[in-house]
Parts: sequence; structure tokens; C-alpha cells
Amino acid sequence: MRILLVEDDALLGDGVRAGLKQAGFAVDWTQDGQAAKLALETEAYAVIVLDLGLPKLNGTELLKWLRGRESKTPVLILTARDTVADRIAGLNAGADDYLIKPFDLDELIARLHALLRRSAGQVTLTLQHGDIELTPSTHQVRKNGLPIELSAREFSLLHELLLHIGRVQSREQLEQHLYGWGEEVESNSVEVHVHHLRKKLGATLIRTLRGVGYVIDKED
Ligand code: CA
Repeated sequence: MRILLVEDDALLGDGVRAGLKQAGFAVDWTQDGQAAKLALETEAYAVIVLDLGLPKLNGTELLKWLRGRESKTPVLILTARDTVADRIAGLNAGADDYLIKPFDLDELIARLHALLRRSAGQVTLTLQHGDIELTPSTHQVRKNGLPIELSAREFSLLHELLLHIGRVQSREQLEQHLYGWGEEVESNSVEVHVHHLRKKLGATLIRTLRGVGYVIDKED
């Protein structure tokens, strides 16, 4: 899952980025509204964490611009405790949720997962395919009810494929979800992760279409 974090406070931004990365998100972090706008024009994000008080272009203005383009990407805004008016303006401009600083990182992650579920139209908390179950909120994968250990990127890759069952994803599309800016994409990394997933979850789960991409087929 690729996420855009927009926060001008260097210390807070760095901490949130680290926490989100550990939770399995690929994080792009920008520190002003203009840079965020540029990122949103060129990249696709699953969800956006947006501070409202930002240099160059404030969060509310950015949000209005985003919704003006009919983007439905879920947005969670971050606000200071004493700025109720800002928070209301943010929600009116199209934010989906908010957190008041200082906030707990686990709460942020739980709320992001809730937003992602809602935007995917999922009712259930767990994605299921045959004997495989994946629960985004707890970052758990089970096979036949038994927990399977996956790396953060293996988990993200499986999550992407399970969200698009029956639809082929190119290697480039998958890489987009696995890596944030400044993270070096190792060559063959998708192939390597797929190889590991097959070893852990079964050789036939993920099908390779040579030169095209990867897919988890619908169940018969
Ligand atoms: Ca700020």
C-alpha cells in the first residue's frame, strides 16, 4: 500500500514515516503543500495523511484542489488541539477522518486501515482466497488457519494481489505499492517476493504471465 504523508514538522514526519513503514506501507513524505500537489499529480496513492498547517499551500487548500479533480483517495487530516475551526474546514473540504496531535501511532494505523477498507467497499476485515486469509489490520496471514510469517514486502505484495483477484498486475504496478521514494528497488525484487510467497503459501497461488505480470486467479 502506497501512502502519501504530508507533514512539515520534521521530527513528527520522520516518526510517522518510520511507524507506517514498519506497518508495511510504502511511504512518500513531503513537507509542504506544493510538493504534495506535485506528488499527487504524478503518483497513485491508496491513502493520504495530511497535516493542515503547511508551508506554500495549506492542507485545506490542497484538499479542495484534490476533491476538485474528483479524486476519491481517502484523506486523514492531522490537526492541532486548539483548531476546531480548521478541523471543520478540513472535513468540509473532503477529509474522511481526522486525528488531533499528539496522537498514538497505533491509532493512526488502525484508522488508515479502516479508511482503506471503506474505500475498497469491503465489509469484512479479512481477505480470503481458498485456504489463505489475510487480515490487514493485524498484518496477519493464515493458511488453513495456521499463521504464516511474511516479510513486510511479501505481505504488501500478497495484499495487492488479493485486492485484485482475477486481474493481472504488471511488475511496475506492484513495485509502486512496495516502495516509497528514495527506497531503492532491487532488480527482480517482485520475482523474488513471489518466489518466497509460493514457497510459503503454495506453488499455484500466484500465476506468472511471462512478460505481462502476476495474478491470483478466481477460485473455481
Ligand atoms: Ca504543520
